[in-house]
Amino acid sequence: MRTRGNERPAVAVRLEAVEKTYGRGDGAVAALRGLDLGFDTGSFTAVMGPSGSGKSTFLHCAAGLVRPTSGRVLVGGTDLADLDERRLTELRRNRIGFVFQAYNLLSSLTVHQNIVLPLQLAGRRASRERVLSVVDRVGLADRLDHLPGGLSGGQQQRVAIARALVTRPAVVFADEPTGALDTRTAAAVLALLREAVTVGGQTLVMVTHDPVAAAHADRVVFLADGRLVGELHRPTADAVAARMTRLGAWEDDPVPAGPASSSSAASFDAGPGGGR
Ligand code: ADP
Repeated sequence: MRTRGNERPAVAVRLEAVEKTYGRGDGAVAALRGLDLGFDTGSFTAVMGPSGSGKSTFLHCAAGLVRPTSGRVLVGGTDLADLDERRLTELRRNRIGFVFQAYNLLSSLTVHQNIVLPLQLAGRRASRERVLSVVDRVGLADRLDHLPGGLSGGQQQRVAIARALVTRPAVVFADEPTGALDTRTAAAVLALLREAVTVGGQTLVMVTHDPVAAAHADRVVFLADGRLVGELHRPTADAVAARMTRLGAWEDDPVPAGPASSSSAASFDAGPGGGR
């Protein structure tokens, strides 16, 4: 297993037998049903699964935004259940970064103000070098005084990535980060996220429904009905699409466009659930 000196454990995030049930009694919904998953430090993992399979719930539990009903979530060896709300918030601010599909930038703040916000919230000084290095990495140096509304979708997502990286978090969680972007812009954003792993040594966990995006990861894990039902290492878009088709992932949605679509469409009529 990979180690990176003393300061970062080999496994950045671990879920052990995590269950999450929403509601009680007759109306109870089991979103996660005993999930065991580990994410090595410095790895890039994509999380896929049909709609309702528990991807968002997983992401929120792993990031300490939702407490599991049972089981454990460890971030950098710290059991989140041991933390009260204040310390949990602190851990999220210092060790975790987020990137969302809808960017979630504050429209009244400039690019620069958006990027340094997490540092300010964490009560940390925004060192000029730190900010400039992250701004440089995402190619936004000439946009710092702009408001997000004047930027393209790809540029806004790059601001969001800079904001996620500025605290140098151990783990970055991305929820459909390329969902609103065209293919070329998506590829550029994925390359930036990949760089955070290879250059920054960060751990990246990305929920996506796009096999092409997932193929940028080192590993794809597949969820169905709140359980881990498979994984692929060094995935190709075609292999990911085929696995998703076997999970019946695209019963309600059109098969995503891209190089994978023709092969997945070919086997789509074979019927859902074959891979389970
Ligand atoms: P995915 O992200 O894969 O679509 P989710 O984690 O959003 O899956 O949902 C998993 C299951 O949990 C679904 O059946 C969903 O309806 C249910 N669920 C998610 N969030 C809530 C909630 N806040 N209250 C009740 N049920 C929920």
